[in-house]
Formats: sequence, C-alpha cells, structure tokens
Amino acid sequence: RIPLLAVDGGGTKCLAVLVDRSGQEVGTGRSGSCNYQGIGEEAASRELLQAILQAQQDALARGALALPQGHSQAEELEWEVECAVFGIAGLDTEHDREVITGFVHHVLAQLRIRVRHLIIENDGFAALLGATGGKPGILVIAGTGSIAFGVNEAQETARAGGWGHRVGDEGSGYWIGKRAITAVLKAADSRGEPTVLTDLLLPYLGLARVDELFNWTYGPLYSVDKVGELSVLVSEAADRGDAVATEILQAAGEELFFAARAVIDRLGLKNKPFRMILQGGVLQNDGRVRAIVEQRVRGFAAQVVSENAQNDPIYGVIAKGLAYLESQAD
Ligand code: BGC
Repeated sequence: RIPLLAVDGGGTKCLAVLVDRSGQEVGTGRSGSCNYQGIGEEAASRELLQAILQAQQDALARGALALPQGHSQAEELEWEVECAVFGIAGLDTEHDREVITGFVHHVLAQLRIRVRHLIIENDGFAALLGATGGKPGILVIAGTGSIAFGVNEAQETARAGGWGHRVGDEGSGYWIGKRAITAVLKAADSRGEPTVLTDLLLPYLGLARVDELFNWTYGPLYSVDKVGELSVLVSEAADRGDAVATEILQAAGEELFFAARAVIDRLGLKNKPFRMILQGGVLQNDGRVRAIVEQRVRGFAAQVVSENAQNDPIYGVIAKGLAYLESQAD
C-alpha cells in the first residue's frame, strides 16, 4: 500500500507521483495534456492512465511497490493508496466535475487501484491550497490554459478566468500562440506590422508558406497544447526586439493581472498581507509577463509577497494529500 498518489493534470502535461508518508517521492510518471475540454474525454483518460501506470512501473523498479509472490506481470498488481489527490485542468463547473470524476474512477479501476480517500479538484485550486497551506494567498497559472485562484483568512476561495481555450484563458500559452498566428496572417496581408514571428512559426511547425499555416489550424496536427507551445516563440521574438511579439506578451501580462485583481478584490485581500504564487510555462519562462503581473499586483495590493519556492503545481497537490494523511494520524 502506498500512502499518497498525487496527480497534476494540467493543460500542458500530466504528472503522477507516488509519495510515502514523509513526503518522499517513490515513483513518477508523465504524459501529455489531460484537459478534456482541449482533447476530449477519451484522450484525457488515456493520458491520465499513462502517467499513473508509469509512476507505478517506476515504483516497482525502485522497490517501493512489489508484485505478489509468484507473479511477474505488472498488470497483475492490485494495490491500494490511502489518499489520491487529482488536480485536473478543465474542472470548471459541476458538469465538468461529473465528467472528470467518471473518467478518474474508470482509470483507477483499469489500473486496479483501490483508493481510500479520493480528492478531485481543479488543478489551480489543488495547487493553491497545497502551496499556501490555507493561509491567505493567490495563485495565477499561465500554462497552456490560465486561471487565478485565491483563498482568504476566512478560508473563502475565489477564482477568475480559466474558462477554457475557446472563449477564455486570457494570457495563457494558447491565447498567446493564437495571437501569434493571427499576427503572422495579418502581416502577410499587410494589415499588420511585419514580424519575426513569421520566420519563427513556419519552420517550427515544419511549414514553408503562410497559407500553409492557415491550413494547419484546421488540419490533423493542430492541437490546443501545440498552439500553446508557440508562446515560447513569441518570447523568443520579443527577446529579439520584435514589437508585435512584445505587445502580445504585454497584453497577456495585463490579462493575468486582471484575473488576479478580481480574485484579490472578491476576497477582500487588497489591504491585507497575502502570498502570490505564479505557475505554468508562460509565467515561469517569460520574465516580461511575470514582471508585469508582479508589478501590477504590487501596485494594487501593497502587502503582497511573491513566492518563488517549489513552483511546480505538483508540490501543492502533494502538500494537500500529506495534510489529509496528517489529519488522519492525529
Ligand atoms: C481550464 C482550467 C484550468 C486552467 C489552468 C483552463 O484551460 O479551463 O480548468 O484551471 O486552464 O490549467
């Protein structure tokens, strides 16, 4: 039996970690996006299964899990975890909760894992509560998707943004990538400024011409997380002084600030001390976007403290599971 299975199922990657009682990681698995809004239910549960299976195999190889006597197939393993915490992107409404709970149960049954205590939350929510330990704080994620979450002293929580790639997720990698594609098309029409994004995006996607880029967006290789990946090229273009790219990133920073501000306002944190945690590929890799969010939030709520420690959301998910295990030991 393993004390804790922690899963950070984001829009970019799915990370599954098996953890012992002391918080030590004993098995890790990784797969692709598991936001069902972006890739569909079937693909999301396949990614989830893949990550947990890999973590299980890693734990077997490291001796943290053992096959029953006389068995040699990992598939024959039946095991139990005391607590499993899933932080899953795409859990935005009660309907999403039903869908996601359904496929999490299905995956656990397929892997023959019995779970004594199961927690399923939005990826940002799980990461926030784990990282702040329930103390006042806000978390802004900008990876493939984006969202802001917060908690105040009274343990009230609030969220803003995060309404998926089609109509929301302002400031996210997808939002930035989509704008980059539009900028390339506009430049080709002479409706927009010329931009080095054209020279960066086309080869990155293995394309020769701008019209092929348009067809790519309706073709089989298009995916939400692939568009999100393009945000890295926007950072590169801005590093080279490209004005179009710089403007996109500035707008992203502003949008993320608007989400953070809404959460701070609604939780009454404006004149109170609280921590701010910034996570996800965009905020981790692009100093400009990060600086805009930090400066704008500081200008609005003077007592904010930016937190850099243990920036990966998985730590928050693990902390949430460990807190549950501790509460049981008391
Ligand atoms: C999803 C949210 C998620 C956010 C950050 C959005 O696309 O709709 O549920 O929290 O991305 O991963």
